[in-house]
Order: sequence, then C-alpha cells, then structure tokens
Amino acid sequence: AELAKRMGIKASLMIQKLMMMDVMATVNQTIDYDTATIVAGEFGFEVERASFEEENILQGHEDRPEEMITRAPVVTVMGHVDHGKTSLLDTIRKTRVATGEAGGITQHIGAYSVEMDGGRITFLDTPGHEAFTAMRSRGAKVTDIVILVVAADDGVMPQTVEAINHAKAAEVPIIVAVNKIDKPGADPDRVKRELSDKGVVAEDWGGDTIFTHVSAKENIGIDTLLEMVLLQTEVLDLKANPDKKALGHVVEAKLDTGRGPVATVLIQEGTLRTGDAVVCGIHHGKIRAMINDQGAPISEAGPSIPVEILGLSGVPGAGDELFALKDEKDARQVSTHRSQKQRAKELAKTSRMSLEKLFEQMEEGEVKELNLILKADVQGSIEAIRDSLEKMSTQEVKIHIIHSATGTVTESDISLAAVSNAIILGFNVRPGAKVHEMAKEENVDMRFYDIIYNALKDIQDAMVGMMASTF
Ligand code: GDP
Repeated sequence: AELAKRMGIKASLMIQKLMMMDVMATVNQTIDYDTATIVAGEFGFEVERASFEEENILQGHEDRPEEMITRAPVVTVMGHVDHGKTSLLDTIRKTRVATGEAGGITQHIGAYSVEMDGGRITFLDTPGHEAFTAMRSRGAKVTDIVILVVAADDGVMPQTVEAINHAKAAEVPIIVAVNKIDKPGADPDRVKRELSDKGVVAEDWGGDTIFTHVSAKENIGIDTLLEMVLLQTEVLDLKANPDKKALGHVVEAKLDTGRGPVATVLIQEGTLRTGDAVVCGIHHGKIRAMINDQGAPISEAGPSIPVEILGLSGVPGAGDELFALKDEKDARQVSTHRSQKQRAKELAKTSRMSLEKLFEQMEEGEVKELNLILKADVQGSIEAIRDSLEKMSTQEVKIHIIHSATGTVTESDISLAAVSNAIILGFNVRPGAKVHEMAKEENVDMRFYDIIYNALKDIQDAMVGMMASTF
C-alpha cells in the first residue's frame, strides 16, 4: 500500500502486477527490496535503498577475550508472598549501600548495588517472579543468581515452587535464604526437607544448592548470605567488556512530569556515557543525564551498574534492550526500523507451541522437546499423569514437565508457559475469565480434561500427527 501510494497508483493495480510475478501479496504486506525494484520498474520508477542492516550499525559491540574483565553478579529475590523478600531487599539496601553525599538517602530506581570486601553485588529491587518473567519474555537475560526466600515458620509454599521452576527454566542458579529464623516457630530443617523434595538439595545433603539462615528483620546472617552470593559468582565466572559501546536492559521506566521519559537501565556490556546516542526498545535519544542508585549524577556507567537515564524519545518497556551507537542519526534510523518491524510482528500474530502444530514442527525438525505444565485438583492425578507422560517420550520428542501443582491455572502459569513455549494441561480445574483472556493474548495452548486417558490420547495423537483428525 505504501509503495503504491508513493508511486501514485492504485494498490490493486500493484497487487495485480505482483501476482503476474507470482508474488501473492496483500495491501498490508511488506515486500523485499528486490521485488520492490522490479515492480516499481514496471511502473517506470526507480527504487533507492534507504533501509539498512541493523547489524552494520551495531558494529563495535563484539568482544575480544583479552578485553573481558570480571563483572558483578545481578541478583533477583524470589519466594512466596510474605516470606520476607521486600524486607530482605530493604535491609540490604539500608545497611549496606554507601549513602550518597546528598542527604544520605538511597534512591529507589529499581535496582541497587552493594559494595562488599569481596566485590560488588547488584540487586534488582522488584522482588517476585512476575518481573523476572516479564523480562525473560522479552528475551532479556538479566539475572545471574536467584535468592529464594523461604520463611522458616511457614516452609515451602505454592509460590516457592513457582519461583524454583521459573529459575530452573531460565537456568539461573538458586541460593536459598531461610528467613525469619528469629521466630519461635522457625524450623529450618523442615524447609531443607521440603525443598529437597522439589529438587533443591543442600550441599551437605549431597546437592549443589547453597543454604543460608537469615533474619531480614533482625539483620542476622545477611553478611553470610552476601558472601555466598560472591562465592557462587566465582563459580559462574561472570565477565564483560567495559571498553566498548554500552548494551543493557531496562529494569523499569516511567514518564516523569518534569524530566520526561525516565528509565532505569542495567548496563551489561560496555560503558554508557552522558552524551551517547542510544536506541532503547523502539525509542531513541541522547543521554542527557545519568543518576545512580544513591541519587548522585554520574557521567559513566559500566557493566552490572544500574543507572537512571534521561533523554529518551519515549517510555520503553521493562526488559527492552538499550544500546549505544555512533550518532543520533543512526539511533533514529534503528528506532524507526524497529517500530516498523514491531508493527509487522503484531500483524503476523506470534505463533507458539500448540498440540495441533506439534507434529508439523517435529517433521520440520523444529521441536525436540514438548514442554508441559500440569494443573490438577488433586495431587494424585498429577502423579498419575506425570508417570504416564514421561513414559511417552520418544527419540524424536522428549516430554518435559516444567511445572506441576494442585489448584487452578493462574496468570503465573500462563507467563511461564509463554516464555518456555509450553502447553498447559488442566485436570478438573476451571480458571477464571482473566486467565482465559491472558492465554488468548499470549497465544498459549491451554487444554482441560476430566479424564486422564483423554489427555494422554491427545498427546499421543499429536505426536504421531493424528491430531487433525480428532479436532
Ligand atoms: P514479601 O511479601 O515476601 O515481600 O514479604 P515482606 O518483606 O513484606 O514481609 C512480610 C512480613 O514478614 C512483614 O510483616 C515483615 O515484617 C515480616 N518479616 C520479614 N522478615 C522477617 C524476619 O526475618 N523475621 C520476622 N520475625 N519477621 C519478618
């Protein structure tokens, strides 16, 4: 449509010409440069290449091994509601962030860093797996380590299990902080037992997970916890090159009435400097000012440093990528290109895994694993179906149950399914309208059964390509 308009001809005429060239296009479709050249030529026009390859502009972001230096770990705190995630983050911030000169109050920018004898640690200040999954669903890998908070007087709860499965799906190591050990009813051994049932096994029980005992409220054991984070960091051997243009991800962003779009970005590679031209999601801009977690203005930020930036053309989303480039012209070009691409993507609805598509994708060699989430009214059903399903794995497709729990399907299940490309199976459960709506929005295949046999049969059929005949 756009090309026809520019040439001043009817779109239908152009579609006809394209059809004669064996190109079936609709008015909303994008055609490639070569096709555009030919069809425009038919109408006596010449096409000039104005687009660009994003990769060319993104030059200068590649690394040489000798430039890599150790960087600080980025930590997310997860766990069941009321187990003390916010308290833990507050205690660490209050007692361990070197307070800035201006007033001595730390600034809430969505992330902060603490400086220890053994090194620096950066915390994302939004606890819980919702933020974690939101970032992941945009392809952002920001977290290096998850601190799993479990209250010693309450033990493993549904959101504890969810957090474990989210961390596992993202392949991020877990450090357990058994919290509230100051309470009379605290039973850390029970937490250890319950977690090992979920596959999170302490080192002294033959596993590989670090367990620590803390009280976020009484400030007990926090230093040990932080030391353990640094210990785990050594194992991970985290490195980044500070000596190039910056690359990072947005942690949070908002529109400030006085300052315009404000975003907290976690720099992951390179160094960001004031005056740098940047692309951030579909927006662009020039860094006007940077503010650190202590509210102080800074002129540069290197790997693993969270920083609030001013100067973007719009408000990006959490999880959006930020990168610096040569000049503002390039930045504007990339951001325009990206907005166009995003629109095209929205038009061509994202396709996720579904049972109908399983066989087709297997044949094309696209799937090797079928990820499932099981929800049922009783534990017995889960165990029965888990056993049967795991036996159905074949050489071509391995069935992988990434999460299972009693209770109905929740919004958290949908987001886990979306980021892990999983299908949800529900047994004798009926989620509310909001969950159905979200599944539809996210294109997550959700199926409900009363009889286990029917579910097994559907999956069996899907795996041998018989699904079409049953639906
Ligand atoms: P979140 O929902 O996981 O963020 O939990 P919060 O940090 O909001 O804590 C929930 C409640 O537990 C609050 O009333 C806290 O004061 C309390 N709490 C948190 N940590 C501790 C602790 O170590 N000991 C005791 N006794 N209470 C705690």
